[in-house]
Amino acid sequence: MDMIPFNKPHLTGKELHYIAEAHALGQLAGDGQFTRYCSQWLEQQSGSPKALLTHSCTAALEMAALLADIQPGDEVIMPSFTFVSTANAFVLRGGVPVFVDIRPDTLNIDERLIEAAITPRTKAIVPVHYAGVACEMDTIMAIAARHNLLVIEDAAQGVMSRYKGRMLGTLGHLGCYSFHETKNVISGEGGALLINLPELVQRAEILREKGTNRSQFFRGQVDKYTWVDMGSSYLPGELIAAFLWAQVQEAEAITAQRLALWQRYHDAFAALEQAGRLRRPIIAEGCTHNAHMYYLLLRDGQDRDAFIQAMRAEGIACVFHYVPLHSAPQGRRAARTHGELPLTLEMSERLVRLPLWLDLGEAQARVIATACRLLGGA
Ligand SMILES: *Cc1c(COP(=O)(O)O)cnc(C)c1O
Repeated sequence: MDMIPFNKPHLTGKELHYIAEAHALGQLAGDGQFTRYCSQWLEQQSGSPKALLTHSCTAALEMAALLADIQPGDEVIMPSFTFVSTANAFVLRGGVPVFVDIRPDTLNIDERLIEAAITPRTKAIVPVHYAGVACEMDTIMAIAARHNLLVIEDAAQGVMSRYKGRMLGTLGHLGCYSFHETKNVISGEGGALLINLPELVQRAEILREKGTNRSQFFRGQVDKYTWVDMGSSYLPGELIAAFLWAQVQEAEAITAQRLALWQRYHDAFAALEQAGRLRRPIIAEGCTHNAHMYYLLLRDGQDRDAFIQAMRAEGIACVFHYVPLHSAPQGRRAARTHGELPLTLEMSERLVRLPLWLDLGEAQARVIATACRLLGGA
């Protein structure tokens, strides 16, 4: 019996064609033709005034921490139920992640807990759009405005998702996307920073280009380029951008196909949810999502672990996440929590992710049949 993997990157078929084109052009460093195509596409899709390609979402978050001017001891409010990069980007600047609990429905940061976590040291709020389903951004933006805080969206999982009609990544002041091969639209490693505050655009370009005003030089705005600020190299080469160009052109179709797979799971587990055996994902009102993942919430950690093991024995790879950041060794050292995080702990124990990749095809029927049998359904 073939193992059904948890993830399998989808290739559109055009990747090598564009990579060959970049090779033929002989322009391999960053910010060439394909980078321009991809960033223009991102700007057009999202309506953000500026999209900059980066090596990864991690790099985009690091740029955001620099743009937010995080100083040692500055606090950044975020969920503990997230990937390490959300926190690390700020820890690298000496910032202190302050974790608050999540909502029981979307597993996103609970916006009702944010205001009480604000102190005079708070600089920013980092909502993470878990599974590509939006956080309650209207409330979060209103809190940020009242306290003069920057909002940096970790939209790593949220490419092509919307909140009240607007693309994730464009609702906060800065938005971070991932094109890692485990995401929906991919370039192996890759990411982008959306800069929704026009006054931050120039500094973002400089930080990304080793602290030089090289971007202005290429636009003819200065007659030579020089070292003007701190910075690093955050731009991907053209071969990565060429790969990504093949993917972004298919983004709508990829999303539609993933949504069909997601819905098939959702329909298949409705009866087990009704029977009280599990809980299915909840899509908040006003949100359209990108089917980044399909997860189930089982009874407890023991139930979840037994399910993963039994699925593996049947040749189906399922995974769980996250180990809450506040309970990890570096989280205990470098961050603090605001209050208890009971839902973070509970959900991380109960959650299991099912295989969801574009070419899953008929293997999905086997996943569904096996899961339903193991969970005591039909
Ligand atoms: C994948 C992911 C990241 C990191 O993305 P990379 O492109 O691999 O750096 C950050 N945050 C969240 C929530 C993610 O899911």
